[in-house]
Amino acid sequence: MVRDHGPLVALVVVLAFSALGWLYEPPRAALSLFLGLAAGATLLVLAIKQREEGLAFKWLSPFALLVGVVAVNTMVQLTGGPDSPLFPFYLLLPLVPAVAGRLQWSIAVTAGAFMLEMSSAAVHGSILLFWQAITLRMGLFLFFGWLIGDFFLRQRVLTKAATDQLSRMESRVRTLGVKPLEEVEEDEVIEALSHRGDHERIVAAVRLLEEVLQSVADSIFRSFECHTVAIFIFDREAETLVMRAHRSHSAEIIEDAAIQIGSGVVGWVAKEKKYLLVEHLGRSSGSLGYYRDPAGIASIVAVPVLIDGSLEGVVLVDSEERAAFAWPERDRLEQFAGVTSHILRYARAEAQSAMTLSEVSALYGMARRFSDKLRPREVLGVLADATQRIVGCERIVLSVVDTDRRAGRIVLARGVESELMEGHDFSLMTGLVGWVARHKRVLRIPDLTQRRRRVPVYSADIEWIGVHSFLGVPMILEDRCIGVLSMEHRTSDYFTDSIAEVVSLIVAQASVAVNRAELYEEMEEMAIHDGLTGLLNHKRFWEVFSLEIERSRRSRKPLTLLMLDIDRFKALNDRYGHPAGDAVLRDIASILRECVRTVDSLARYGGEEFAIVLVETDLDYGLKIAERIRERIETRMFTSNDTMMSVTASIGAAAYPRDAEDAESLVGRADQALYRAKNLGRNQVRCAEEVESEL
Ligand code: GH3
Ligand code: MG
Ligand code: MG
Repeated sequence: MVRDHGPLVALVVVLAFSALGWLYEPPRAALSLFLGLAAGATLLVLAIKQREEGLAFKWLSPFALLVGVVAVNTMVQLTGGPDSPLFPFYLLLPLVPAVAGRLQWSIAVTAGAFMLEMSSAAVHGSILLFWQAITLRMGLFLFFGWLIGDFFLRQRVLTKAATDQLSRMESRVRTLGVKPLEEVEEDEVIEALSHRGDHERIVAAVRLLEEVLQSVADSIFRSFECHTVAIFIFDREAETLVMRAHRSHSAEIIEDAAIQIGSGVVGWVAKEKKYLLVEHLGRSSGSLGYYRDPAGIASIVAVPVLIDGSLEGVVLVDSEERAAFAWPERDRLEQFAGVTSHILRYARAEAQSAMTLSEVSALYGMARRFSDKLRPREVLGVLADATQRIVGCERIVLSVVDTDRRAGRIVLARGVESELMEGHDFSLMTGLVGWVARHKRVLRIPDLTQRRRRVPVYSADIEWIGVHSFLGVPMILEDRCIGVLSMEHRTSDYFTDSIAEVVSLIVAQASVAVNRAELYEEMEEMAIHDGLTGLLNHKRFWEVFSLEIERSRRSRKPLTLLMLDIDRFKALNDRYGHPAGDAVLRDIASILRECVRTVDSLARYGGEEFAIVLVETDLDYGLKIAERIRERIETRMFTSNDTMMSVTASIGAAAYPRDAEDAESLVGRADQALYRAKNLGRNQVRCAEEVESEL
């Protein structure tokens, strides 16, 4: 409770110390002022020191400095108070232990001073009455006694928390598969945690990994209608799967749940390295292993996370509904498992490089800055700025390259004559940057003008005549060159070996960050869109549709909803196979895109059912568009592997506000109309109103 009122307590302490001066006969204003200032300065030094060490600020924790202030009080009295020439040195007494942070020392000093003070008070009865002194000192003694007790108690709690954190961290670090933490003596635990050493780097890498895994879990959660999403990572040493990220509607999830390979659903997936889709779990929900109480979980789909065929983890979603997932969900989850395996791979690379770079601490800061950036473009911006600051070159250029097509494009240019460079395309066969990309090697040229034949840096049409030094560093990911960072300077021999080395390290970090940023974008895309058709997925449809209805309500403009279902699609699948069916679904999605405006929304509502939201469109016009869609589908020849197929579709239409007042009932009405279209023989458009008049 004391901790929460830090500033208030500090104020009280300062005032209390100031008040001491008035206990003297006669009262001493100068002493009051001095004691108040000493207490204030001590607390301030404490605050600054704690902040520097990155500790959460606690006003009272090294309270011993206050004890130091009491010592000053004592010494002042012993040697004649503020009039003494030694007076200014007393300031050192509280400050020295404050700066050194040696608590036991200052306690010892204070205790000594306290004894002196007692005897001084007894001898010089004229300065302070003996009993008055005893009472005052007793009060202080009790106060500090309480503080000391509190301090040691807190220290014990801290040590325990830190030990726990370290041992938990150790298992997490194992997940990363990097060199394990060294053995740490219990006494050094706090020391180890507060030091900016390798530990902290690894801890940061682990944290980063967990944050990213959590964001994958969140994306999956947004993308599926499910009860729980869980991501398990394989701990090789312990032969278990440990839950590293989850998101759930349930409060029964076991944090850090660990599951043995081969045990239960999750263990089975890990052991067999195969997906598992259970539509009705029944009593086997008891073996899920990540719920305290799994009652009510009815279906689950789980897929393994593999890197080069070896097990790295398991990703799963479950639901309280039976048969909540089918193979399209499994496919989508597999995509997410793919993302997870990429993320693991890069997190490992990052952790490993963090460990080998202990001397280049600037780089570490850089990696942190990269990791904040979620867009590839932002990462590149940070890379260019940072490199330019560190190296100080006159021109810095980032190009993305496609080594298969032997083409490069400048995406970012800073410095001399850089204005027109961005967006410039060049061939990788002509210049130095192309050489770097093709050979995936760092190229450093001390003086371009000394070469017999002048080779352009990018291409001959954007040459900077004054350039002498050149340094080009490839951005490499999985053995593939994705870009080149190039730097130029007008003096010769500008780029030294060590600059080249540092820049290579920065670029390596950035490559990982760019890749992660790209994965992020891909993931966002996956959370919103259906993987097969690229249209909005079911869940996103409802969000968009509800918003559009709301907007219609406000603008008082009508809106038409079309529900489209392919006719006898099961038969087509049976006859030509699922891949052919998928091709038809994709083609129908593009027909839909051709037929609507960009403001309209298209969604894959279910397996072979689509929803089309036509904004600011009344029913009459909506029916025209529906008819156009129906006709295009009917006349289109769909092909897959040289097979020609033709299909038809039925469409149900309903309009807001004429057919229903809210989003859900409008979908219901459009569905009824669709049902009627099916009943009347398929391949036709029907609207909600007709259904009404039929009844
Ligand atoms: P109806 O005219 O009454 O709509 O007949 P139907 O066969 O289209 O109706 P039903 O809803 O019974 O069958 C839908 C079929 O669509 C079942 C499933 O095999 C297929 N399907 C669902 N999603 C996909 C998918 O993503 N790809 C492929 N190839 N087929 C799918
Ligand atoms: Mg159908
Ligand atoms: Mg259907």
